[in-house]
Amino acid sequence: MTKPYVYITRKLDEASLTPLKEVAHVEMWPSEDEPCPREELETQAAKADALLTMLSDQIDEPLLSKAPNIKVVANLAVGYDNIDLEAAKKHGITVCHTPDVLTESTADLAFALLMASARRIVEASDWIKDGNWTGWGPLLLAGADVHHKTLGIVGMGSIGTALAKRAKGFNMNVLYHNRSRKPEAEAQLGVTYAAFEELLKQSDFIVCLTPLTPETKDMFNEKAFDLMKNSAYFINVSRGQTVNEDALYEAVTTGKIAGAGLDVFRQEPVSPSHPLTTLPNVTVLPHIGSASVETRKTMMRLCAENIALVLQDEPAKTPVRL
Ligand code: NAP
Repeated sequence: MTKPYVYITRKLDEASLTPLKEVAHVEMWPSEDEPCPREELETQAAKADALLTMLSDQIDEPLLSKAPNIKVVANLAVGYDNIDLEAAKKHGITVCHTPDVLTESTADLAFALLMASARRIVEASDWIKDGNWTGWGPLLLAGADVHHKTLGIVGMGSIGTALAKRAKGFNMNVLYHNRSRKPEAEAQLGVTYAAFEELLKQSDFIVCLTPLTPETKDMFNEKAFDLMKNSAYFINVSRGQTVNEDALYEAVTTGKIAGAGLDVFRQEPVSPSHPLTTLPNVTVLPHIGSASVETRKTMMRLCAENIALVLQDEPAKTPVRL
């Protein structure tokens, strides 16, 4: 019997795929950083039994309606806003993602971005490399303290909770906002629930960690930035579309807020001429929240494992509830 055909839309670590190769014929798009073009994805999807996808691939009804054999799509991310779940459900396709395994690495990055923004780490490093360091000054590249400040986490799920633990180690006061309260986190971590607007008004650092949904799209708009303190920093490690970037640009250039740290953008890769990438008080990263070698390989193995399970008619380990 021929093995099922699995197509992977980016070049991944071969060793992480070994168990999958025992049960399937696996092909990969040959580039690590260039995405698989749509036309190629459509050609591959039409003959595949499974896809291993990246968050930059749009898995939608037009693609799935011409992919009669696909049983499972495993996305190398915890977020799955690039996948049309209704279409997947209609075609009887299991969708998998990689929750939990990236939680700690992403919380590390979120806290690093917060620290870098507050203490001007990237700006200071660039400043030396540009040959500017001629002497010491009492307020030279002075930033904002992090310890004992108020952190507001919008979307306190797995990563938000891991971030709150880090913040508690820095003696921060932690507020959070979700659609539902988390009494166990309140009791165990000493975090406090706040309505969205109240959190924006009270926080010194606001970190967005919600999934991208119709509800969270453009959540951080002009009104939200107007409510923040002039000394506040906005950090986004969720998805770019949660933020109105024009409103953020206006907020960081007019002193409505002190600065921002962005791991994600509405359009990725972001253009180097994008206004937000030109500002000293905006620290920018190329969507590397979960990008430690260990975690990325664990995510690859989990995707491969999910695909192998579904292709063998067994339940996936980490399916998205459709
Ligand atoms: P999670 O455990 O599902 O947590 C998401 C949290 O967001 C939940 O606590 C949820 O609580 C809250 N939420 C959902 N809708 C909301 C809304 N409308 N208003 C306020 N809160 C809302 O997910 P996670 O593993 O922590 O990941 C969170 C997101 O981070 C992912 O979806 C992904 O987009 C992003 N992420 C980015 C990177 C990166 O590389 N930058 C890496 C990993 C993850 P309620 O349901 O109670 O509202």
